[in-house]
Amino acid sequence: MKFTLTEPKKQFSSDELIKDLKKVASSLNQQSISIREYAKSGKYSPQTLKKRFGSWKNAISKAGLSESKRLWGGSLSETSIPEKSIKDDLIRVSKLVNIQSLTLGEYAKHGKYSTSAISKRWGSWNKAKEKAGLNVGRLYNTSNEAYFLNLADVWQKLGRQPKYREVTAPLSKLHVSSYERKYGSWRGALEAFVEYMNSETGEVVTEQKEEELPLSSKDEIFKKPELAISKVVIKRTNRIANLRQRFMVMKKDKFKCVKCGASPASNPKVVLHIDHIIAWSKGGETVESNLQTLCQDCNLGKSNVI
Ligand SMILES: [Zn+2]
Repeated sequence: MKFTLTEPKKQFSSDELIKDLKKVASSLNQQSISIREYAKSGKYSPQTLKKRFGSWKNAISKAGLSESKRLWGGSLSETSIPEKSIKDDLIRVSKLVNIQSLTLGEYAKHGKYSTSAISKRWGSWNKAKEKAGLNVGRLYNTSNEAYFLNLADVWQKLGRQPKYREVTAPLSKLHVSSYERKYGSWRGALEAFVEYMNSETGEVVTEQKEEELPLSSKDEIFKKPELAISKVVIKRTNRIANLRQRFMVMKKDKFKCVKCGASPASNPKVVLHIDHIIAWSKGGETVESNLQTLCQDCNLGKSNVI
């Protein structure tokens, strides 16, 4: 079963983008607007505007606004903010966005202070995080699987292809910027994911079992002497479905429990399980045709009956 991505949404026109930029500036009663200010109250992502016009500066000038000297916003008085207040705010935002390593972009969206002021205070963004006792580590070396696992999880929770803006905490453990870093763009990440999910699963065989040849086959041994070796090797699929199988089965079942219809998209408390239609212990294999999506309740209910 192959699947494809939905087409990217029709691009917003440049006029629409500029109109919104002007709107936000006038709502703030300002002649200029910083990325941080726009990220907080704008309709589009600052990234979209930057990409469309080449830079934030260009977007600003297109909108007829004056260029701000401090691109990330914030006032000069920030040099007099007590260290503790900044550290506390870094910790607050870190908890809020719930990602492994707080990025400048995420802080800019939710933080009280300007990221440039914070970086200046301690010399760098990472040093500031270190001072606040936050994780400095990056996710650069995470394997594809970790990215795909998270993406599959977000997809499953939404019951559909995630949109750029949805790939953020708390729904996603990895921020969309991590995907952009690794795959060049969000679209690139989606395409890599689809390619991975559509590639041959080659059901992993991990268990081999030797079985006595049934007596009825004795006649066969005269015809095929190689069967005289009295044992044959029975290959079995892995008991646990892999990421590809889990995703494809849930997708086939529209990310809903096949018994009661519960889905995380309509009720975030719902947890979906992958269930063997014929139990693995009874010879059922871990292949898409023998797997189905059940919610936790239905799955456990079933276990109680048998
Ligand atoms: Zn159910």
